[in-house]
Amino acid sequence: MPLNEAAWKERELNLTAAREFAEYLNTAPKRIGEDFFRYHPDFLLPSLSWTHDHKMHTELWDRGFPQELVVDAISDTGIGTTMTTTLHHDDGQIETKTRKVADVARIVGSKRAILFLFTERWRAKKCRLCGKRFVAEKPGARFCSSGCATDHRESYKKENWKKIKDRINADRREEYRTQHPKKRTGTPRLPIHRGK
Ligand SMILES: [Zn+2]
Repeated sequence: MPLNEAAWKERELNLTAAREFAEYLNTAPKRIGEDFFRYHPDFLLPSLSWTHDHKMHTELWDRGFPQELVVDAISDTGIGTTMTTTLHHDDGQIETKTRKVADVARIVGSKRAILFLFTERWRAKKCRLCGKRFVAEKPGARFCSSGCATDHRESYKKENWKKIKDRINADRREEYRTQHPKKRTGTPRLPIHRGK
């Protein structure tokens, strides 16, 4: 079904929010202020208690967005009507911005991400190699990045090649044994010297 422009824009916002949500979950709560909000100042969290939110949101993701947790998470109004974000600029300057929650929430935020991932649960994945949470493009995706996919493929190939090699060697030994039956049990000795 072709998406009209408004639906397409909404989808892009949803995907962006979902990706930011994954990135925020992959950040240690202590580092959120500096490492996450520096790059995503508009990402809205439901309260200022990041440690609490982070724990709740991580559980949400890891349990596959169960409805009862989703309802709690999106109805949480702990943040009030205005929000203040502290931005750490690269030149060392710190800036604080206060905005209306409604304005920011319309753009992007954790609730948008949660709602979207609730309706498209298959997208909320954990990388099979590095364990990072990521938003999948396709239902079968298993890795967060092409880097992790390549690393996994390489180790799989190595592992697989070892298995194949062992198998080939075992087959060769078996073939050799069937073609040289005497060697299998050692050279049979005739009891010619018995009775000496
Ligand atoms: Zn990964």
